Amino acid sequence: MILSHQLFLVVACFVQACFSLMTPSDFERINGMLAPEAYSSTSVPFPAWLAQLANRTDWPAAKPPFIQTPGLDINSGIPSNPLHSLRLDQDMACFSQCSFDCNNCLGPNDIAACPQLLQTFDDGPTAATPALLDYLRQKRQLTSFFIIGTQVLSFPDTLRAERRAGHFIGSHTWTHPYLPSLSNQDIAAELQWTTWVINVTAGVVPRYFRPPYGGLDDRVRAIAERMGLTPIVWAHDTNDWQMVGGTRTENQTLADVQSWINASSTGIMLEHDQAPITVNTGMKIRDMVGAQMYVAPACKSLTAPWYN
Ligand SMILES: [Zn+2]
Repeated sequence: MILSHQLFLVVACFVQACFSLMTPSDFERINGMLAPEAYSSTSVPFPAWLAQLANRTDWPAAKPPFIQTPGLDINSGIPSNPLHSLRLDQDMACFSQCSFDCNNCLGPNDIAACPQLLQTFDDGPTAATPALLDYLRQKRQLTSFFIIGTQVLSFPDTLRAERRAGHFIGSHTWTHPYLPSLSNQDIAAELQWTTWVINVTAGVVPRYFRPPYGGLDDRVRAIAERMGLTPIVWAHDTNDWQMVGGTRTENQTLADVQSWINASSTGIMLEHDQAPITVNTGMKIRDMVGAQMYVAPACKSLTAPWYN
């Protein structure tokens, strides 16, 4: 297992060396990045190394195929947890495991706690994301994004802008499935293609991921670990996405945030940059919780880099 992990990193480092488009940012760099951004739309090239590795010439439109890479073993030693569905109330297999979404169970490496109330934004990049980036640039602050691979194909320049500004970029899978319902190969495929498109577009190899719907059990954890990815989940769910459909008001969302501030003002919050309404509320939440100058992995270790 150690050997396979090392080999994966060798591949990742090779990938980064060939396609490292940007240099690492820091706070001084973000302070210097106050010029207006252009969020033009370009396509994401399908690089020759990936064509050779995957034996294809285009990005998967939907369900991605698993590509066996050198040294990657997603079978031996992986917990054989029964597959289970998102219908938590009807699926007891879910409750028999250390499942984040079923039991709020955290693995030893999972990150959810944080010394401050920390914002994280899922499901982008979208057309709504640039407004949030502009706002954060004015505030000279950082935030954390968990990226859907297929969204990168639609908004690559927005991902590049996130990277240039120094924001954290984590993986949120290729098509946003409920991972515990998938086979080992399909879980690995969802993660590997997202890592590749983030690398090709933004020049970094992510080291952290967030499972969609919080779908995280020991089988998902083990597969992700072999792919160099550590889970980041959350301590507080804003349920901001329900505002998009009108089943939740902004006042309800902000009242929840105020209650977390009153309680301890700690822990990672789940938000989304999926639509203007969630981004607008996100800006208000940022004003409520105050300045945030570090990103999600720093909740556990201030020194660990968040990318390879
Ligand atoms: Zn999501």
